[in-house]
Amino acid sequence: MINQTLSPLRYLLRIVVLGAPRVGKTAIIRRFLGDDGFEEQYEPTTEDFHSKLYHIRGERYQLDILDASKERDFPAKRRLSILTGDIFLLVFSVTDRESFTEICSLREEIFTAKSKLTKSKENRQLPIIICGNKTDLNTSRGVQHSDICQSLGEDSVLFEVSAKDCTNLEEMFEALAVLGGLPTETRPSLHRDISIHTYQTLSSRKRNKRAMHEPCGAVHPLARRPSFSSDLRRVMGPSTPKRSTPIERCQIQ
Ligand code: GDP
Ligand code: MG
Repeated sequence: MINQTLSPLRYLLRIVVLGAPRVGKTAIIRRFLGDDGFEEQYEPTTEDFHSKLYHIRGERYQLDILDASKERDFPAKRRLSILTGDIFLLVFSVTDRESFTEICSLREEIFTAKSKLTKSKENRQLPIIICGNKTDLNTSRGVQHSDICQSLGEDSVLFEVSAKDCTNLEEMFEALAVLGGLPTETRPSLHRDISIHTYQTLSSRKRNKRAMHEPCGAVHPLARRPSFSSDLRRVMGPSTPKRSTPIERCQIQ
């Protein structure tokens, strides 16, 4: 669908979203992709991979979002997803203490997996955003703000948001852009949503030479999660000749 006449991508980043079921991951992702609506009814997630393409100040950016919730009970798969992530969004519900405990252990899992991959000392400065959702249900809080801060420590990037009434969402999306080194216009409120067809026209090399246009973004309608082997290549680098060696080296268990 995306053909070769497009100008080169400036940046391709993957956000990996993790957290317990029903905490609002899908609702947050929808908001990020520019969906104005909010779904009250719970639907287990079926679409776990999304791709949004941006055209901002003459450059093209692609942001992939992997909702890794289906891998909750599959540690090896989850670890691979973690290794492919450039930025992490760990979501819990402020009404559910267990969901907070879950993201604390997920955070440790990310630190461990990433340091094993780079064979370095544990790096606690990874781009991780902790997101406490459902603040509109403040009266039934299961975990207090002070407890959260105490458990996470001072270095953490924490946002308490509501995907329902949009409290703090823009601020969180701004932090996501900053952590990912992306233009601030990737925030849903700062660009115009267009169709993939319009995006392709705007991004063609020919068109690109002309005057700049306002920042815009298009959700890729046919985004599909890459295969297990392409995710492995992404982790180990494109020149990896065989599958068996890298699997052992990065110790995906
Ligand atoms: P996921 O399983 O983590 O992807 O959770 P969903 O996004 O599917 O949301 C689970 C349920 O929580 C749905 O019924 C949503 O309507 C509801 N929900 C999600 N975000 C919020 C929020 O910010 N506030 C409230 N009150 N409900 C929410
Ligand atoms: Mg979901």
